Amino acid sequence: REPTVPVGDLLEQEVEGRRILLSFSPSALPTLDTGNASELIWSPSTHPDEAAKEFISVLGGAAIRKDFEPYALRYSGYQFGSWAGQLGDGRAVTVLSTSVPTSSIDTATTGPGTAIPDTVDLEVQLKGCGRTPYSRTADGLAVTRSSIREYLCSEYMHALGIPTTRALSMISVPDVPVIREKEERACVVARVAPSFVRIGNFQALNPGEGESGVMWFGGGQQKGDLQALRQLGEYVARDLLHVQDGSDGIWAEKLLWEVAERNARMVAAWQAYGFMHGVINTDNVSILGLTIDYGPFAFMDVFDPLHICNHSDDGGRYAYRRQPEMVLYALNGLLRALAPLVGYEKQNGKPFPTSHEDLDIPDLAAKGMALKDSLEAHFQSISAQEYGTCMARRMGATVNDESEITRPLLNLMQDGGWDFHESFRKLAVNEPLPNEEEHVSAIGRATREWKEKWLDTKPDFEKMRGANPRFVLRQWVLEEVIGEVEADLADPETRFDGRKKLAKVFEMTQQPFKGWGAEGKPEKDLTE
Ligand code: AMP
Ligand code: MG
Ligand code: MG
Repeated sequence: REPTVPVGDLLEQEVEGRRILLSFSPSALPTLDTGNASELIWSPSTHPDEAAKEFISVLGGAAIRKDFEPYALRYSGYQFGSWAGQLGDGRAVTVLSTSVPTSSIDTATTGPGTAIPDTVDLEVQLKGCGRTPYSRTADGLAVTRSSIREYLCSEYMHALGIPTTRALSMISVPDVPVIREKEERACVVARVAPSFVRIGNFQALNPGEGESGVMWFGGGQQKGDLQALRQLGEYVARDLLHVQDGSDGIWAEKLLWEVAERNARMVAAWQAYGFMHGVINTDNVSILGLTIDYGPFAFMDVFDPLHICNHSDDGGRYAYRRQPEMVLYALNGLLRALAPLVGYEKQNGKPFPTSHEDLDIPDLAAKGMALKDSLEAHFQSISAQEYGTCMARRMGATVNDESEITRPLLNLMQDGGWDFHESFRKLAVNEPLPNEEEHVSAIGRATREWKEKWLDTKPDFEKMRGANPRFVLRQWVLEEVIGEVEADLADPETRFDGRKKLAKVFEMTQQPFKGWGAEGKPEKDLTE
């Protein structure tokens, strides 16, 4: 436990095989500064310098701990609505796991299970540290650009209170070239979550092809491995979701309901905060309801419900407005994968047996699929409730008045081409909305009428300032940081300007509701 290396010292160190720590987020692993994780990552006998090197080596993918066997997971999935076959962690490897007190992490990641234990396991997974058995033809690497985006955004989402995988560190591997459109530099993000299991892990074991769910094999070829599915499900229900209390051993339906509930809350928060994920394929939907896999994501600028943030999403499948529907699509995929097991539980009141030779699987699958409508209703009601809670908070109210307040405001934003976040923030600091002072225009009048109605609700301005971020991780902010960090890494005489900028923006992601601006300066100066 003794070597505690100040993070500031770590940032300018390099280790053999040149690994440079670009940023470090100790709160992502709650025990890190109290000793547990330093013990985990650094052997107690090592000198601080050695400990720092070991830290960077392990989290940069250059070395592995003797006491841990790294692994990548197999999963499949439906990408843009089509079965994509086997995928898997092509560039992610879990390299450590540690147990932390449940009280030290987000309740969002522990859930309202029946028997939450005192400690929870956290996995540390490296993204971009090279090929895995599931890399297929790709290189297993990640570039600086995408790593910076994932690193900053996952910590920003956490600070906004949106369930997400966390980011612990970002380490540049400047000597490893990565061939994309141009040659770039490799970078490894260490991310943290109780588990990275996705809906796709279940689909790898049973694709659940066919809308009726009666066919339980993919494309008529691949038979579902129902015993493996049972084992995975039992593990997830018992150890991750804590919904299986052990008395009856039944888990499948409880698991479905819990996964639906968590993902409903997650996507409701996305909608309320204008977050667009961009690739809600079933392999990118977490079993824990965490935002996972930061790719072409974006935060809404000018409010446009049809906005598509993923350039390769021509049809707008993952447009802002469709996100809840697409999460529900993934949950339906989970139901289809589990349908025979759920059906068996429904019929017999017992967990799926370890031998199923003589069972009528299509019949059981059909029984499982009978839950489709109630699963959907459950999802809709939880997501509407959670969206209402988030929007009430943003509006400074105790309950969300969707028809009189929230919806009309969003309509005004859309008609006036207002910036989504700036509009909320202006309300929170009691500044005029765009168009509000235009006395002749229709939108000006409508805005003033809306504002009067809203002021009549006596909004709590202070609470609003804690719910409407002053700092938004917009594309241009990310672009600026990426450009400067890349320049910094390319410059042999570097003065660390890029890394300083990264550190500043990281600090802002940690406290998005803070004033960010000189004292007494008007809020208007949002570009500062
Ligand atoms: P995504 O669209 O990010 O969800 O990725 C889809 C699949 O491609 C997953 O199985 C990833 O692990 C895999 N993948 C993406 N990029 C790479 C890469 N550079 N090397 C290996 N596998 C990758
Ligand atoms: Mg993915
Ligand atoms: Mg990805």
